[in-house]
Amino acid sequence: MDYIKKFLGAKATITSSKWGFLTMEAASFTPAVDGDLIVHLGKPLEQNEPLVRIHSECLFGDVFHSTFCDCGRQLEMALDRMHHEGNGLLFYLRFDGRGAGLAAKVSATALEVAGTDTYESRMAIGVPPEGRDFTGIARYLQGKGIHKIRLLTNNPQKSEDLSRNGIEVDVIPLLIESPDEDVRRLYRTKALKFHHSIPRSCT
Ligand SMILES: [Zn+2]
Repeated sequence: MDYIKKFLGAKATITSSKWGFLTMEAASFTPAVDGDLIVHLGKPLEQNEPLVRIHSECLFGDVFHSTFCDCGRQLEMALDRMHHEGNGLLFYLRFDGRGAGLAAKVSATALEVAGTDTYESRMAIGVPPEGRDFTGIARYLQGKGIHKIRLLTNNPQKSEDLSRNGIEVDVIPLLIESPDEDVRRLYRTKALKFHHSIPRSCT
């Protein structure tokens, strides 16, 4: 906790070869001992209704380009859109495996490769299929005087966690165009068992 307290709010601006200047802010929204990240592109906090993405870390998708999920591609699409607009706020949360953690995710993925869906795989290894909470994001936004956002998401839990905590949310869907069979299968599970808003054409 001291570690987080010491570095919370630290900022550094890096230059991304893809998305230009990105200001990285140290934050803490998850149980991760070394904290989370808020990525500012442009001046999102000065916008009326900033474009926001709440991304949960997915090492397999974000770093290793797993075809099994859409996480890495969603991250890229969100940053592409922010870059295009010139402004955006990305919360990079250390919720790998939807909060189950990396080791549990490896275990769940072994079952998924063998055909189990991403809900049942979590049940089988004894971790909650959905273990995330997004209310801390609402507190951060409120603290910055932001009460209305445009949120890139298919997950109603995110907009509900924010709305319940005083943030007005306009939802913008974030879907892979013509997904392949692995992602279609994931979308079917997300629509059926996690109640994500995913059009039938994508499943
Ligand atoms: Zn993923």
